[in-house]
Amino acid sequence: MKLNERGLLVVLSGPSGVGKGTVRKALFDLEGHDLVYSTSMTTRPPRAGEVDGEDYYFVTKTEFEERIKNDAFLEWAEFVGNYYGTPRDKVEEHLKAGKEVVLEIEVQGALQVREKAPDGVFVFIAPPNKEALYRRLLRRGTESAETIQKRMDKAEREFPLAHKYDYIVVNDEVTNAADRVLAIIRAEHAKTERSIHKYNELMEVGKNE
Ligand code: 5GP
Repeated sequence: MKLNERGLLVVLSGPSGVGKGTVRKALFDLEGHDLVYSTSMTTRPPRAGEVDGEDYYFVTKTEFEERIKNDAFLEWAEFVGNYYGTPRDKVEEHLKAGKEVVLEIEVQGALQVREKAPDGVFVFIAPPNKEALYRRLLRRGTESAETIQKRMDKAEREFPLAHKYDYIVVNDEVTNAADRVLAIIRAEHAKTERSIHKYNELMEVGKNE
């Protein structure tokens, strides 16, 4: 019995380098869910192996700014010199169809979504400790020393914002973290406030009073 007609918006967020992308991929590899990933748009150049339309929609700055003007993003942010944004139309379409839509975005963007869609589920992915995050950023080896430093400085400013989220999941081990995110999604689905309306309708609660 499905109690929610509208899908659930799930926002995975947290500092760069925390492993959000890896947790998201592990989440999608788990069995027994029907999640949809919202592919973001960015002006950052593709990294080796990244596929347009899969990892991101890679666009020029002019194209991105045109879309900002047309209000085509649910949220967007400038992150270390590049734009990143969530195309609005696909998200709406999937939610209307009753799907769970997963966004994997940085902190400013997540806080914008929180304003617009307070009924979403907001999960802060945290590193086990600061050193682990810094090691990860260095190991990735895809950015210049300057960019890595900028990402680290940004992470320092983002650590205190975890309290604005509904859940904190520590990425100590990727599959554990993905399991916990899936457990959160399942629990959120069953939350009374999300399902009582439909439940009452189905059970005809209050009809004979
Ligand atoms: P990266 O360049 O490492 O792929 O991404 C940089 C940061 O931007 C990461 O924290 C990533 O989660 C975030 N990001 C990716 N897509 C979006 C998006 O659509 N909106 C926002 N606000 N952040 C995004």
